[in-house]
Amino acid sequence: MACVSFPYDAPVSQTLFDRASLVTPGGVNSPVRAFRAVGGTPRFMVSGSGPYLTDADGREYVDLVCSWGPMILGHSHPDVIAAVQEAVARGTSFGTPGEGEVALAEEIVARVAPVEQVRLVSSGTEATMSAIRLARGFTGRAKVVKFAGCYHGHVDALLAAAGSGLATFALPDTPGVTGAQAGDTIVLPYNDLDAVRAAFAAHPGEIACVITEASPGNMGVVPPGEGFNAGLKALCQADGALYISDEVMTGFRTSKAGWYGVDGVAPDLMTFGKVMGGGFPAAAFGGRKDVMAHLAPAGPVYQAGTLSGNPVATAAGLAQLRLLDDPAYARLDAVSREIQELVTLALTKEGVAHRLQTASNMFSVFFTADEVRDYDDARKQEAFRFNAFFHAMLAGGVYLPPSAFESWFVSTAHDARAVERIAAALPAAARAAAEATA
Ligand code: PLP
Repeated sequence: MACVSFPYDAPVSQTLFDRASLVTPGGVNSPVRAFRAVGGTPRFMVSGSGPYLTDADGREYVDLVCSWGPMILGHSHPDVIAAVQEAVARGTSFGTPGEGEVALAEEIVARVAPVEQVRLVSSGTEATMSAIRLARGFTGRAKVVKFAGCYHGHVDALLAAAGSGLATFALPDTPGVTGAQAGDTIVLPYNDLDAVRAAFAAHPGEIACVITEASPGNMGVVPPGEGFNAGLKALCQADGALYISDEVMTGFRTSKAGWYGVDGVAPDLMTFGKVMGGGFPAAAFGGRKDVMAHLAPAGPVYQAGTLSGNPVATAAGLAQLRLLDDPAYARLDAVSREIQELVTLALTKEGVAHRLQTASNMFSVFFTADEVRDYDDARKQEAFRFNAFFHAMLAGGVYLPPSAFESWFVSTAHDARAVERIAAALPAAARAAAEATA
């Protein structure tokens, strides 16, 4: 860290961060925003337009975080803003059913074949927590299999060897989660079907579900190996467990039908968030009708939410999804490829060992020469090089995820001018990565 230079050029952000730190733990409302992994002052953003964010000091950045995935059409897309304004003018929350939530559910069911019924919630964490409860209620079993490096939100039972912020901070676990809460969680190495086979053999008839990121992005991008997801499904089926695919990150991003649209492996339950909320707190879980029928009020498994299906959030999500047609995904894939090629070129030119891994338009750079197939591989990278790279990109007007263990996200708004800005920032960033020392 001492070797990374970050010019103190964000005085207004620094002042806001100082104020925030007095009234909020660590000065942020979600840990990875705090720049702890990369050092320096977190930028406080005041506005977003298309592929750009503007911070409180008036500096503009090309945004390759896109609010950690949701802003797939870029910031302030006029159709999404119009839908939100129209919805807001009619009222912000009714606590009753409304047509918007029906339309959003219909859109999800129409796009993702394995989803026969869906329940709307307000965050990805709520979606995975509820899906796990439903799987346990449906099967009458307690144990849950998850994979090291997969992050499913801050669900107590799933905060074991999770990625995302926990990867950033290298916390093996978190205080506050009791042995009882995590005791039924079996954590296995990702991309290792033999380990899953062994877990089912050791606990026959005890495993309620296997939950996996459809294609992990929370330890950096580590796609499933050939046949991995299909193998998970087959092992679950053979034992009577449910296969839960967490598509909070990949859903409606990696294709019209998310990662399911890429690998075609039909899960029993799926979880969604991010893109489907259009920048508002909306998420969902859904799947087989016979399983979903166990959910209250149709069945005995309780699940609820004061703001679930909120009319403003559903209007934003629906407007965004309706714009995500085949040409939009072709555009995302093309601009993502263009940026990937630029990054590879710049790092190769400076002789920096790296590995760029992709899952359709999601990608990330690992500072290692070796393939990354699981969390242990991911942690072997020279993350200190990323930190230098990150700050040089920031200085060049490009906002990357402030951690080496995250996916980068593009939007349909990333145009030639935005790509040029990235291209211009890359040579100095690659040089900084090359010169960085641990
Ligand atoms: N699942 C996955 C795969 C995620 O990437 C995330 C968040 O990054 C979550 C669940 C949790 O979603 P939220 O932050 O909306 O609670």
